[in-house]
Amino acid sequence: MSEKQKTEKDWKTCLLPEEYRILREKGTELPFTGKYVHNNKKGMYVCAGCGSELFSSNAKFESGTGWPSFWEAVGKNVLTKEDNSHGMQRTEVLCKKCGGHLGHLFDDGPSPTGQRFCINSLALKFKEKKDE
Ligand code: FE
Repeated sequence: MSEKQKTEKDWKTCLLPEEYRILREKGTELPFTGKYVHNNKKGMYVCAGCGSELFSSNAKFESGTGWPSFWEAVGKNVLTKEDNSHGMQRTEVLCKKCGGHLGHLFDDGPSPTGQRFCINSLALKFKEKKDE
């Protein structure tokens, strides 16, 4: 079954409850609670829902916000969408492959892009790349 065909019941079965709350219900983890906030290892962050490669450790930076932050996404593997919920105008970031909610995109990031992808650790799985 492809990720796009999965029902919410299917997602509930294959995700942990806390992952489901973020990816499928657009929740946000509390700042500084995610396991990847201070992860400085080299590797690839993939979608916790479908495994699609989303962010490289090369684009990770210390934003001070309490969420893993990146200045660019991998290729065209994420989608962005206008989000006017909670009385704010924000840009939502979603996994292109499975439609899972990842976090939000802001324009106050570092060079070279000036972008700040503010992403929930629970929406990600880290694949460490060992240097040979
Ligand atoms: Fe995904």
